[in-house]
Amino acid sequence: MSEQEAYGRMGGRMLLQDTKQSSGDYEDPAAWLKETDIVSHDFPYAASLIAESFKEWRGQAAPSFAQSWEWCVLNFEGKIIDPMYEFRQGRWDEKWEEAAQASLLTGGVHAAALQEDGQSFVLLAMPVFTRGHREIFAVLSCVMPAEQYAEGGRHTAEAMSMHFQTCFYHSFEHVFVSDLAGIHMHAEREASRRSLLFQIVQRMHDNIDVDAVLTEVIDSIAAMYPGAKLDLFMSQDHRSAHPQVKPLPLRWAGNDVCARAFKDGRVSLHSGHEAGSTVELGLPLGGKQGVYGVFHMVMDKSSYREVDLNFLSMVADTAGTAFENAKLYERSNQLIRELRMSNELTQRLNQSLRLGDIFQFAFEELLGMFEADYCCILHMSEEKGGLEVIACNHHQLLNEMIEAGQGLGGKVYVTGEPLFLSDYKYGAGEKSKLMEATGSQSLIATPLSVGGEVRGAIMLAHRSPHFFSYDSYRLLQAMAGHIGLAVGNARLHAEVRRLANRDSLTGLFARHYLDEEIKERQSKDFCGTLIVVDIDQFKMVNDTYGHQKGDKILKQVSEIVKSSIRQGDIAARWGGEELAVYLPQLGVQQAVYVGERIRKRVMGETEPRVTVSCGIAEWSWTDERVSVESLFYRADMALYEAKNNGRNQVVIDNKNLNGEIYSKNPWA
Ligand code: GH3
Ligand code: MG
Ligand code: MG
Repeated sequence: MSEQEAYGRMGGRMLLQDTKQSSGDYEDPAAWLKETDIVSHDFPYAASLIAESFKEWRGQAAPSFAQSWEWCVLNFEGKIIDPMYEFRQGRWDEKWEEAAQASLLTGGVHAAALQEDGQSFVLLAMPVFTRGHREIFAVLSCVMPAEQYAEGGRHTAEAMSMHFQTCFYHSFEHVFVSDLAGIHMHAEREASRRSLLFQIVQRMHDNIDVDAVLTEVIDSIAAMYPGAKLDLFMSQDHRSAHPQVKPLPLRWAGNDVCARAFKDGRVSLHSGHEAGSTVELGLPLGGKQGVYGVFHMVMDKSSYREVDLNFLSMVADTAGTAFENAKLYERSNQLIRELRMSNELTQRLNQSLRLGDIFQFAFEELLGMFEADYCCILHMSEEKGGLEVIACNHHQLLNEMIEAGQGLGGKVYVTGEPLFLSDYKYGAGEKSKLMEATGSQSLIATPLSVGGEVRGAIMLAHRSPHFFSYDSYRLLQAMAGHIGLAVGNARLHAEVRRLANRDSLTGLFARHYLDEEIKERQSKDFCGTLIVVDIDQFKMVNDTYGHQKGDKILKQVSEIVKSSIRQGDIAARWGGEELAVYLPQLGVQQAVYVGERIRKRVMGETEPRVTVSCGIAEWSWTDERVSVESLFYRADMALYEAKNNGRNQVVIDNKNLNGEIYSKNPWA
């Protein structure tokens, strides 16, 4: 409240004439007060104070003869302020005002003679001066019998007029001081509220934790209004440790204060109609980016009188901003954490291009990153015809096959949609092996897409319900993207490797691959056998049918070789029209059957018909020298033998069977 407002009650606009700047310039406040005065601007508003002081002055002791005189007070324009009709009934009103005008004109006391009912009176109009600049702000008048006037009544009247002035200033100072006290009290209240607000703001902004901000604001308001029932409804992030923080209801009653406050972002009020009932308040918790929740206060009407809505909404605004800041801080921390984790994951994934490693790394990283109890990765295997559990820390499930569409993982694979389950018991709708076997309640799952095609599913489970947050659900999807990329790279790499290891004409392995594989096997296995297969008189075939036909025959023979061996055996194009088959862990005796099968089938199935000769050699860990070169050399020797013996036959390396020819040329 400004000083001007404080003086409003004196009649509207009363100004203070203060010669010095403010009370602070005076050592003695009383002296300062004495110099405080009214000036001509204030006169139009001083009427009520003049009237009041006039009444007070009249009530005070005056000489007994003077009490019978009639008195009247007039304003600075000579108009009667307090006619006191009950005594005077307006009989001299014109005279009062005439005399006052005269007194105002001369600036001195004006006396006028009056006659009534044959009696003589004197009307005295006495100017009342301001104490500072001696301006006339009122005229005090009285009518006394003429004889009393002659006996010194005039002096008495003038003394009484002085007294009136003193009375006026007494009232003036009283009003002034009490208004000053009012201002002071108001300022003090304001200051204490500001300091309270400041403390709240400081405490709230000290907190960078969302929950702490909410707790702080609830506690602050609760401390200010102990009688009020207080709740905080949050539109999100309502998972707070504080019992008074609740989720915003999905449905509101039509004119709910909270709904209004939330929608309008302004304080909303509802008071009961009956006396003694309660008042309901909705205070929005808003920041720059929106409204996050609503404080709901219920208190009875009597305590509501104490409530300062401005102040409360300032507290709520502060809380909104603090909440927003804490939220942003939390969010940026979360983003940094996610970035770091995704960085670590991709780094780890990039350490290897082997599919098996990728799944293993992904599995380990995800378990740690999400603090999940269980992680399970499903991968579609075409050979096995279903989803294979390729990584899982519940070991009974590892390598288990799941049909597409079966269980939760199968559903995620088929629909290509992620899944978020807070409580398996209520609302899975689908039986899940993982959830049942591990006794888990929470699940987040996402499809694993590789090159835009769903190739599997990733599932993370926890035994407690409501364990995963929406953020982790989202994060898992982001991570699945990285894993999908790594899996895609590994598959591409494997494909490139496969192509590099293959012969393009026959589709058999290339010679270098066979060399490497045999070398690798020789370092691990006990034994193995190599069959070298060479088409007989192939030059002639080419000459007869042309090179293209020759190629076709070569392909036919290759197909026969491929389909005559076991899965683990390796068939390769050794060079030209020579093929080779390595049979791991197989002795020469069984290898002969394989060679024979190939020889017979080539003879029977090729068109135009060709024959092949085979040379067989085996190695075993008991050999003095085990090497790829010597194995080939010996197989080649046996082949040479077969050619020499008339072709279309299988010959075993003589080191093993003293050059025994196993099969004779049926035409020889
Ligand atoms: P044999 O092995 O029975 O002693 O007689 P051969 O005629 O098969 O012997 P040789 O090793 O002298 O000749 C191999 C021929 O195979 C030479 C070449 O024309 C043919 N040849 C090698 N590679 C290919 C190929 O990729 N396609 C075709 N059409 N012919 C090939
Ligand atoms: Mg040949
Ligand atoms: Mg040859």
